[in-house]
This record gives sequence, structure tokens and C-alpha cells, in this order.
Amino acid sequence: MAAKVAEVAPGIYELFLPLPMRPTIVNVYLIDCHGAWALIDTGMNTADSFATLNEAFEEIGLNIKDLDVVIGTHHHVDHFGTSATIKQHSNATTMLHKLEQERVNRMLTLGPPSANPDAMAFFVTHGFPVDKYPIEGMRPVWMGTNQYNPLPVPDKYLADGDIIPVGDRKLEVIWTPGHAPGHCVIYLREEKVLIVGDHLLPKITPHVGIYPSSPANPLGDFIASQLKVQKFDVELVLPAHGGVYSDHRHRANQLIEHHRYREAEMLDIIKRRPHCAFEVADEIFGSEERPMFHVMAATFETLAHLELACIEGRARKSVNDSGRTLFQTV
Ligand SMILES: [Zn+2]
Repeated sequence: MAAKVAEVAPGIYELFLPLPMRPTIVNVYLIDCHGAWALIDTGMNTADSFATLNEAFEEIGLNIKDLDVVIGTHHHVDHFGTSATIKQHSNATTMLHKLEQERVNRMLTLGPPSANPDAMAFFVTHGFPVDKYPIEGMRPVWMGTNQYNPLPVPDKYLADGDIIPVGDRKLEVIWTPGHAPGHCVIYLREEKVLIVGDHLLPKITPHVGIYPSSPANPLGDFIASQLKVQKFDVELVLPAHGGVYSDHRHRANQLIEHHRYREAEMLDIIKRRPHCAFEVADEIFGSEERPMFHVMAATFETLAHLELACIEGRARKSVNDSGRTLFQTV
């Protein structure tokens, strides 16, 4: 079998689809349900990715028309961005969590940040230097292009605890908010396989940040979701980026530990004097010579830590005379 496809468990295929950004590959999973086929995640809607998907199907002896079910773990461009294109070619039943559908619609209709006073106020109160980094540049390049072509309305919504029968398999939905508010992982209980999207990546920590209109405590949600998946009996973990692995409990603990370590670093900084989120991010990650996208991600990931520290009673926040939101240890 060529390098684009790996059969990682009997009838479960990992397909490697190209991304025009880092990480450079997204893994999607095609499941032979014996009489029906399910695809978990779609890749990005580029010609390259769609061609690769079709080639991979061909290697397995499948035509895209034969696809019955498409499930998106979350709304991001590399996960659900080809769902409308795949739907056109297959008429498969598409599924996504309802909270992710709201994000899809937001992404499809969002104007430039400068046209959104709430977004501007949010950036300013958290100290993001909008003079140095004009926020027009914050729109990801794929936004408003055909590279993001998700179905604005999936055929069905995923909900926590759902068991979706496809052929002779049962796909169980575990809602894992954090990286995205409606992120779900898919559990094959009999096979002890967990398809984790971006929730439990083997090498990298998924981005968890606070943005205008995002949930109040996404990092708290993320940590709770790490504890939640540990209850399931799993022998094979299938992530969207990086290689497959086996010990999901160990990896979940590492991710929780990583966030605790970061929080301790941040509390140390705001012990000396109150800081805004941008200043804390700047001390930890540095802001020199980095693409704006990274500076922004670091700032709003830091904000997620600081808000969690407030909720847990380790920090408090106040707004100063110039409208800046400052955090300080209690
Ligand atoms: Zn993602």
C-alpha cells in the first residue's frame, strides 16, 4: 500500500492529507464498516488535498461515491473544510456538533476585525499592540477563499454519548470541548480505538485560547475533557496530527501537567505587579520577530490561563483607568 494510506487497525485506514501550512499533514480516518463507509474529518479544501483523498480511496478500492457518513471532530479548516465538496461527490450524511456549526457560520460571515468594534475593544483591553500588528492581517489567509468550504448546515448534529451505527460498527461520540467548543472524539468501544481529532495530539499541545464570543473558560473545559477521556478503555489512539499511539491516559496527564506548568510560570510573573495578557505572553513567549498570528495565539492562550487562574481563585483581574484588563495574584 502506498504511503498515503496506512491500515492502522483491521478496516481502519489512516489517510495523510497535505496542508499548505504547519502542521503540514492532517490525518483523516476512513472506516470500513462492512457494507458502509465512514470518514472522520475531511482535510482542507485544496485541490491537492481533495486529489490525495481520492487517490487514497482508490488505493483502498473505494470510490468517493461509496462514502456513507462524514463526521467532523470540529469546525477547523483542516477538519471540516472539505465537507461541502465531499457531500457534492458522495451525498454522505454529514455530522458535526451544534456548537461547531455556529463557529462555521461565524467563520463564513466574519468581516475584517477592524469592522467589528467588540473585537477591537477585546484586543485593546488585553494589551494587544494593534498599532504594531494591524489587525487586518489577523484573518487567516484561507478565510473567505474556497480553501474553507464547509457545509454551513450538517445533516445531523453530534451530541455527547450518541452511538452512531454505521454498517456493523458503532461510533460513539464523546464531547471534548476545549480546543473548540463542540470538539468531539469518536470511540469504537469494541475495537478499543479512539479517534481524537486535535484533542490528544502526541507531540504538540493544541491551541486553547479565549477570543471574542468564545466560551468563558476554554482551558478549564479542555482539562475537564482530558479527565473525561481517561475513563474510556483504549488501546489505539488515532490523532489528526502526528503518529498513532497507545497510551491516551498518559498523554492526557502530560497535557494537563503542561498547562499547570504554564500557569505556574504566569502566576510568578503577575506576582510582582499586575500585567495584561499581552505582557504576560510577551515575557513567556517573547514577541520579537514572530509572525503576528503566533503573537496573537500566544496572547489569547495566555488569557485562557489567566482566566482559569481567576476562576480557581489564584488570581484576580481589574480594569485600569486606560481600559486595560490587568491580572494579579491574590
Ligand atoms: Zn483544530
